[in-house]
Amino acid sequence: MTDLTVRKLDASSTTITPDVLAALRSKLRGTIALPGEDGYDAARTIWNAMIDRRPGLVVRCLGAADVINAVRLARDEKLLVAIRSGGHSIAGNAVCEGGLLIDLSLMKSVHVDPVSRTARVEPGATLADFDKEALGFALATPLGINSTTGVAGLTLGGGFGWTTRKFGLTIDNLISAEVVTANAQRVRASDNENQDLFWALRGGGGNFGVVTSFEFKLHPLGPEVLSGLVVHPFDKARELLSEFRRIAKEAPDELTTWVVMRKAPPLPFLPAEWHGKEVMIFAACYSGDIQEGEKAMKGLRALGKPIVDVISPHPFAGWQAAFDPLLTPGARNYWKSHDFTDLSDDAVKVIVDAVRTLPSPECEVFIAHVGGAMARVAPDGTAWTNRNAHFIMNVHTRWRDPGQDTACIAWARRLFDAAAPFASGSVYVNFMSGDEEDRVENAYGTNYSRLAGIKRRYDPDNLFRMNQNIRPPGR
Ligand SMILES: Cc1cc2nc3c(=O)[nH]c(=O)nc-3n(C[C@H](O)[C@H](O)[C@H](O)COP(=O)(O)OP(=O)(O)OC[C@H]3O[C@@H](n4cnc5c(N)ncnc54)[C@H](O)[C@@H]3O)c2cc1C
Repeated sequence: MTDLTVRKLDASSTTITPDVLAALRSKLRGTIALPGEDGYDAARTIWNAMIDRRPGLVVRCLGAADVINAVRLARDEKLLVAIRSGGHSIAGNAVCEGGLLIDLSLMKSVHVDPVSRTARVEPGATLADFDKEALGFALATPLGINSTTGVAGLTLGGGFGWTTRKFGLTIDNLISAEVVTANAQRVRASDNENQDLFWALRGGGGNFGVVTSFEFKLHPLGPEVLSGLVVHPFDKARELLSEFRRIAKEAPDELTTWVVMRKAPPLPFLPAEWHGKEVMIFAACYSGDIQEGEKAMKGLRALGKPIVDVISPHPFAGWQAAFDPLLTPGARNYWKSHDFTDLSDDAVKVIVDAVRTLPSPECEVFIAHVGGAMARVAPDGTAWTNRNAHFIMNVHTRWRDPGQDTACIAWARRLFDAAAPFASGSVYVNFMSGDEEDRVENAYGTNYSRLAGIKRRYDPDNLFRMNQNIRPPGR
């Protein structure tokens, strides 16, 4: 066997000898996958087909000890490192070109304790893995809306979904985490141990180490919740968005409504004459009693003349996966996102005008209504700073043909620029693309300098830089 060439942090290359590789292999419970070997392509292929990177080697970990060994090699050889869990990073940071990929996707266990209402989750678990186990006990914690997303990356960026208004962000429900830091030591972070690290992990992304285990608080929910879609023709979009703004302001914490604007997909409950035409979709979920939900959703369901209203009680586990068919892996994707404290008429106009020029049938603009319990945590209570953002807009540009890259990306940027004057300036780090390094400081606002200080303590050489990077001061 010949020496292996692997990329270093300073962009030069180093060779890893067969002896070093064999020594590492002998210590692992998991495997090493080199280019062309079994598991290599599975590990490097992520949700966004825009990202096609070839790491120099992949360590497919099966436990914390494997992670420690991988981090030790990276630290000793100063290797470029990427961390992959669910592989949904829109920016592509879950894979590096030429470096060491620490693949956690095989570490998928979820253990629920229904007595203490807590769950211990490994980083390779997807939202579906977590939900299926927890909802088996009629328990849940706030997660996102696409069940193939990874728990790990979602949590470290903050995490929000259908129950965030009721139970807070995902990080507001994190009790502790076990982390392998840049010096290859495993530490526990919680309110009682390594408090600074725990604070930083809750929104600071993958900057501080490799999380090998998460412990979450769980809440009773369902098993059925009132949820579903109301689909409207797009010609009344401006009036409907003003009504949405009013309904959102008056909503109890249990009620979450998101708006999705796109060309109608060929969903079985949508009359065929609407397929391919612009529509405005209200997606709503009531995290509580079904009868109370019926009352709370009355105003939303009375708006305008919808094409269809398919709101009814659904198992929460099913509702959590309802958008999966529209969000399958393998398409090309480019996202731009803004937070809004309010949706001004000017913002509404800009968004509606843009939706009339969608560059491909799969593009969509969604506006998530957040706030509620999330907004009652202090801005410096965790690394996630903008607790006043009541709406999160994601311009989700999605297409198949690489020949459309330029047009689709330009469309997203135009909408983003036009909406910027009405936005708050902060942004959810997990919705940032790979070309937005200049937004990281704004994303964290007044929390940035504390985060940079914690980064200097835990990762002074910026080993973990394949992320929305918080640089250690002076580096
Ligand atoms: C289709 C789709 C729907 C989404 N919906 C939502 C939503 O409803 N709500 C929401 O909040 N977000 C949502 N997101 C964003 C999502 O939170 C991020 O993409 C997140 O990074 C996904 O986590 P992952 O584990 O799949 O990511 P990966 O791609 O595996 O990792 C992303 C990054 O997170 C860091 N990271 C991952 N695992 C670890 C670890 N164990 N230790 C240290 N660092 C780590 C690394 O920096 C890595 O580059 C969605 C994304 C997609 C693609």
